Amino acid sequence: MGKQSLMKRQGLTAWIALVAMALMPLSAIAQTQIKLHSNKYSVQDDVQLGRRAAQEVEQQYPLMRDGDIQGYVERVGRRLANAIPSQFQHSEFQYTFRVVNARDINAFALPGGPMFVNRGMIEAAKTEGEMAGVMAHEISHVALRHGTAQATKGQKYGLLAGIAGIAGTILTGNEGVGQLAQAPFAVYVLKFSREYETEADVLGAQIMARAGYDPRDLANMFRTIEQQGGGGGGFLSDHPSPSDRYARINREAQMLQVNAGARDSREFQSIQQRLRGYGRAPSMQEIAQSGQRYPTGENTNYPGNGNRPNGRVEYPSTRYQSVSIFNGGVQVSVPSNWRQINDGSSVWFAPEGAYGQLNGQAVYTHGASFGVAQTNNRNLQSATQELINNLAQGNGNLRTSGGAQRTTIDGRNAIASYLTNVNEATGRSENIRLITTQLRNGQVLYMVAVVPQGERNFEPAFNNMLRSVRIND
Ligand SMILES: [Zn+2]
Repeated sequence: MGKQSLMKRQGLTAWIALVAMALMPLSAIAQTQIKLHSNKYSVQDDVQLGRRAAQEVEQQYPLMRDGDIQGYVERVGRRLANAIPSQFQHSEFQYTFRVVNARDINAFALPGGPMFVNRGMIEAAKTEGEMAGVMAHEISHVALRHGTAQATKGQKYGLLAGIAGIAGTILTGNEGVGQLAQAPFAVYVLKFSREYETEADVLGAQIMARAGYDPRDLANMFRTIEQQGGGGGGFLSDHPSPSDRYARINREAQMLQVNAGARDSREFQSIQQRLRGYGRAPSMQEIAQSGQRYPTGENTNYPGNGNRPNGRVEYPSTRYQSVSIFNGGVQVSVPSNWRQINDGSSVWFAPEGAYGQLNGQAVYTHGASFGVAQTNNRNLQSATQELINNLAQGNGNLRTSGGAQRTTIDGRNAIASYLTNVNEATGRSENIRLITTQLRNGQVLYMVAVVPQGERNFEPAFNNMLRSVRIND
């Protein structure tokens, strides 16, 4: 074949390709198409669940109140939210951006739009694009409604179970918050499947490009996090492997056209400088252990909205729902008319009217809670005594009544201790049953059942719950 005809042939092929590209927008033939997962929740459910959870977050984490920093992060966030492809825009969603004064390199977003960006993440990012990358990833989880899509797949309480374990428990005070309970936002951040994480990376890259950022900056952020040794409890944990994600994002980036809009890196640098001026931020774990709460002013964020328990309490339903708590470490069946309340590092289950708030403290008249505590004793009996002593420190009227009994939880040795107390909210005497057992790592898992003296209707529910407990440690 002569040289000339070869050139002609190449020319024709190139021409055909060019025509094909002209007929279809570049993005349509190139970028990965993402589909929404089936979701039995309404868009409004996302909004409400996220709003409720955001209130908890705002109470449990110190937010930065620096107008410059807040304004800057909001501008970047807004630019990204505006770049969400129209098929994933929900007019009901409100994307909001708050900065948490925490050191860990992390960020998370709640259903319906509230996003929390750790100060540590902003400080660690090398460029505004890297910071925007993490935010675009989180925005994508929200836009794709991953929270409720995941809950649709089976975790009945998936979203409500969210924020386990931050402020010190009312039982163990500031010390010994259990490992299991120490994974804040686990449900929101860590429990998404590999598939969802990849989707959030891919859509995140697409949003980046549409907003005028280089999508490869999202991939670069994984490198940055690894370099800083921040892979631990942060953005990377339990996601697909960072190198897989790095490659996947860069592959997507090759197919994307970055919209115009150069970013002012000086502003990013001046914000970083301003953050450094605040001195060392606490880690999430330190915040957890400080036991401090951070009320945001007008909101009293407890379920019951700052009210005392109102005393109108339904009997426990005879229908039960299986609930997974502590990152799946414990499974328990709970009367279906009880609500789950994540209170510090313990998780409460109580009916409406049986919980509320008094002097900034959560109070319960009827219900059961679960918690994990680190004690100084490895022997269950002494560990239990230590727990009771801790409990007595915060409750002056607490008395033991009757001896402890041996029992079992999920086939393990357990101790049932019987106590009495005077309820702070009602002034009524109440009975408390404390059940303790040991986890493999030596920590104590406990269940506390509380009911006013003389009310017998709750005993069967407590017993059913106890029998249903499955421990996965
Ligand atoms: Zn994610």
